[in-house]
Amino acid sequence: MKNIEDLSIKELANAVKEKEMSAKELAEFYLNKIKEEDSKINAFISVFDDVVKEAEKIDERIAKGEDVGSLAGIPIAIKDNILIKGEKTTAASKILENYTAVYNATVIEKLKKEGAVFLGKTNMDEFAMGSSTETSAFFKTKNPHDLERVPGGSSGGSAAAVAAGEAPVALGSDTGGSIRQPSAFCGVVGLKPTYGSVSRYGLIAMASSLDQIGPISKSVQDAKFIFEIIRGKDAKDPTSVEFKSRSKKDRLSEFVFGIPKEYTKGGVSDEVLKALNKTIELLKSKGAKIKEVSLPHSEYALASYYVIMPSEVSSNMARYDGIKYGFSESDADLLSVYLKSRSKGLGNEVKRRIMLGTYALSSGYYDAYYKQAQKVRTKIIEDFKNAFSEVDIIIGPTTPTQAFKIGEKTDDPLTMYLADIFTVPVNLAGLPAISIPAKGDFTLPVGIQMIAPWFCENDLFLAGEEYEKE
Ligand code: GLN
Repeated sequence: MKNIEDLSIKELANAVKEKEMSAKELAEFYLNKIKEEDSKINAFISVFDDVVKEAEKIDERIAKGEDVGSLAGIPIAIKDNILIKGEKTTAASKILENYTAVYNATVIEKLKKEGAVFLGKTNMDEFAMGSSTETSAFFKTKNPHDLERVPGGSSGGSAAAVAAGEAPVALGSDTGGSIRQPSAFCGVVGLKPTYGSVSRYGLIAMASSLDQIGPISKSVQDAKFIFEIIRGKDAKDPTSVEFKSRSKKDRLSEFVFGIPKEYTKGGVSDEVLKALNKTIELLKSKGAKIKEVSLPHSEYALASYYVIMPSEVSSNMARYDGIKYGFSESDADLLSVYLKSRSKGLGNEVKRRIMLGTYALSSGYYDAYYKQAQKVRTKIIEDFKNAFSEVDIIIGPTTPTQAFKIGEKTDDPLTMYLADIFTVPVNLAGLPAISIPAKGDFTLPVGIQMIAPWFCENDLFLAGEEYEKE
């Protein structure tokens, strides 16, 4: 048999079901990897005590001949903003440092039903606000490819855990790029599904019209495997819908790829451009067609995002008042409790966004900022619709540069925000997109982003798998 690391999730689950390997052995393998690697990487906020016990339960059920599901004993790392009942869920914030979840997120229920075993919770930017995992209230996660560099963010812990071999697969969340950007920086695959295709129930809300949960994995095939388990309509999330695939293609040579001319201009590093050009050559050699397209409102995407996102953040964050959840600073009157708990419990980036959001939503400014940003959002959606009338998949770099150094951008929020310039438009439009490591020799990993029309995830998987095969 091949090494555990070289097997796909499906192969691993089959090996467990066929009793070639026990779920317990698999769990122990990854717990050992965490023990060996994580003191360097710091991907995990918590590793669960019951991992081996849960794996043994799977083995017992297999011994009895029960059907344990398609994930038979597969260990999974979970971003610490997704609730697992009875376990701490901190969102990497001091205000939730000691908060224990009282119910399971729908994605957790779905994975559990298929026999998954949860390894622990991964580090992230506080409440998913950031692009480097440096805004975590607890510690910084390192990029496994270069320990002086960030893993990206906000799902940096999940991406680093998969890249370092500490977990075969992980879940992340993506509001403006938080699955794809860290996947690009860490050299792994990250899928941001169509908005509404995966339930957000039990995901700590950041900006509810943008948030989606998705897999971070070693291969496109693994991402597809997890996506097919977690997707679907959920009565507990009214924005979720039944997934009906709209993909129509079945081979790479049928695809027309569109390169937005705006995605290769200023700010994109030479090595990233080189990787993109190599990818395009490869796709062409396999018979795919390439065409230039235009997304003329791309340049306003970040500005629109940084009005809409903080507006929703300011409203979602109102529940952390020092009374309902977690950290509380006592004082003589209720208002002082609110003020002190929020002031001490929340970090600077979170506070910055609450202030921006409440400002944009305040009367007198609402029309000038929030409403205007929503109009821009509609323009961005129209741009994509126009482009998709000519091409099947839009392709470009996931990020303008490779992973940057720890500390390099912490003093300058605007340059930090630029790391998401190519990922943010996708969330504004609710489209599915995948980041795949570019083929070739580079100093650090480069991510290629493929964007498909709504509910065309299968096109991304097909094109991605063909690309990976090379
Ligand atoms: N980096 C982006 C931000 O800070 C995206 C975050 C995310 O997707 N959660 O808003």
